Amino acid sequence: MKILVINTGSSSVKYQLFNMQDESVLCFGRVEKIGEEKGLFVYGTKREEFNFEKRFPDHRAAFSEIEKYLTEENLSAVGHRVVHGGEFFSGSVLIDDRVIDAIRKNIPLAPLHNPSNLEGICVAMELFPDVPHVAVFDTAFHQSIPEEAFLYAIPYELYEKYKIRRYGFHGTSHEYVAEVVSEYMGIPLSKLNLITVHLGNGASITAIKNGRSFDTSMGMTPLEGLVMGTRSGDIDPAIPFFLMDHLKASASQVYEILNHQSGLKGICGKNDMREVLALREKGDKKADLAVRMYAYRVKKYIGAYMAVLEKVDAIVFTAGVGENSAYIRELCLLGLDSFGIRLDKEKNQKNLREISTKDSKVRVFVIPTNEELKIARETKKVVKGVLYEKKK
Ligand code: ADP
Repeated sequence: MKILVINTGSSSVKYQLFNMQDESVLCFGRVEKIGEEKGLFVYGTKREEFNFEKRFPDHRAAFSEIEKYLTEENLSAVGHRVVHGGEFFSGSVLIDDRVIDAIRKNIPLAPLHNPSNLEGICVAMELFPDVPHVAVFDTAFHQSIPEEAFLYAIPYELYEKYKIRRYGFHGTSHEYVAEVVSEYMGIPLSKLNLITVHLGNGASITAIKNGRSFDTSMGMTPLEGLVMGTRSGDIDPAIPFFLMDHLKASASQVYEILNHQSGLKGICGKNDMREVLALREKGDKKADLAVRMYAYRVKKYIGAYMAVLEKVDAIVFTAGVGENSAYIRELCLLGLDSFGIRLDKEKNQKNLREISTKDSKVRVFVIPTNEELKIARETKKVVKGVLYEKKK
């Protein structure tokens, strides 16, 4: 079974083609700067990689180029990453007109993401009309969060009318690393309580109870929660009004500040953690402060989620920062011995899979995330289910 995984953004398309027999990647690539004068096409396999510049006026042009290099003839299905499934989807689904309509209805909740995700789906369905297409949502895993955790304490009618609530994101990543850890520990996921910490450009943390998402730090949008590369994460909700008054700024200008000028970048001028750490090494005080704020917020959430879960079997670090920075992981868990969390410093330095000491009550893991593989697996599951239903 060959599955093509597609992630369409507003000016880019990323893809990977999987052979599901051994879950290997047959080829991968991306188109960047769609709509600009000079676009970029990147293609690779295990053996070769090349790229070239070309203008891609729209997503259709990008997908046509991708198709040219997909030499695989017997494609079985296409899996699409969709950012916002709202309350419509608590799992992955076969895409039909009703699903397209529901993704469209969620555009107000994800105005930056869902339109391009939808565009990707429509163009791909035209180019590959003979195979099933499956939507895998960033929000779906978090639909199990109970209402005391997903509701905001604002007038209830606002939830009813506008669906203002916590949705959570990075669901594919949190669920994927939870599954990997469950397999590694040899304990079914349904019997595990975990705290999964996804620290990439965007960052979020999830409390998983008996294998299901119970709370997560991102909210109605990805702005809430941890300190991120350019996003503020949690702030006093009155701050935007203060800024609007004092800067004479519009709502969208404040949104821009909180989403793109804040987080690590807002504190020390750099949003890439490697650059922030390098600055810190050179003695930059602001970079040091940014790192401390970043780790402090993670630690605060870990404490909160330990209380919420009552018993935690393991903490899992993933994504760019979580997988690679021993220093950040150490800072996030510093002084938590009395909570039963003990880091083995040497194992942590070596980025080993398990980095807690043997006597640590809560085990600590570093698990590389693989959202594309998770989307491919979900797609396979949905397609098999559909074929089974058809046979019955
Ligand atoms: P995305 O959310 O775009 O998928 P990633 O998961 O790739 O992002 O994470 C990107 C972040 O990981 C960047 O801030 C980058 O600096 C950071 N990162 C990658 N490698 C390291 C490293 N060795 N040490 C610290 N941070 C790292």
